[in-house]
Amino acid sequence: MLLEISDIHVHYGKIAALKGITAEVDQGEIVTLIGANGAGKTTTLKTVSGLRGLSSGAIRFDGQDISKMPGHKRVLVGIGQAPEGRGIFPGMTVEENLLMGAYARKDDPAKELAEAFDLFPRLAERRKQMGGTMSGGEQQMLAIGRALMAKPKVLLLDEPSMGLAPMLVQQIFSIIQEINRRGTTVLLVEQNAQQALQIAHRAYVLETGRVVKSAPAAELLDDPEVRAAYLGGE
Ligand code: ATP
Repeated sequence: MLLEISDIHVHYGKIAALKGITAEVDQGEIVTLIGANGAGKTTTLKTVSGLRGLSSGAIRFDGQDISKMPGHKRVLVGIGQAPEGRGIFPGMTVEENLLMGAYARKDDPAKELAEAFDLFPRLAERRKQMGGTMSGGEQQMLAIGRALMAKPKVLLLDEPSMGLAPMLVQQIFSIIQEINRRGTTVLLVEQNAQQALQIAHRAYVLETGRVVKSAPAAELLDDPEVRAAYLGGE
């Protein structure tokens, strides 16, 4: 397994946000976490990337226990995150934003820059435009492109479709599939469960800080309970 999350508990002050989440992501997979608001999806991602600490449990990545490893070191071992709300640098150009994603690497990022522009032609067209003047969808692409610049083994995506027009939602999901086809493992958090399950190999359903179901994504698409709760009912 590339990523193993074992019985993790996470608190915000006295509030238990995660009450024993166990989940795995294998090399080459797209795995999605679905669930209602407040179920703990974002917190799970933040705990994997090191933005939140564990109260108990463990996270192993690529053969090592990273439970106590600081976030900036996790980037170096291969955990990339495109944060919810984008978090790009508004006063830097698109190209400069992308290059920031490679700042911790010592080799020449030219190849990754070309690859990001190949995945996102829109970013190539606008490489000299200020990040802050890009549309919401373009900023989302930029945030994903920037995370890829660090050549992550796993890419953590938090609500990549949030706030996007329907056509862009389609585009973002097919780009995520393409990123995965090119060799990057993906852990995806989405409100848009239908679309997420369509591109994922496996999925975990979270409810109030616990995993209540895990199965191949195709199975969950047909699961009556999942359909009723997360896929709009029919
Ligand atoms: P959403 O889709 O609404 O973002 P989520 O499944 O990602 O939901 P989390 O954001 O992980 O859920 O939140 C899990 C729980 O932790 C919620 O009850 C939330 O209110 C709580 N929580 C999250 N962040 C904080 C914080 N900074 N301080 C206090 N409680 C928090």
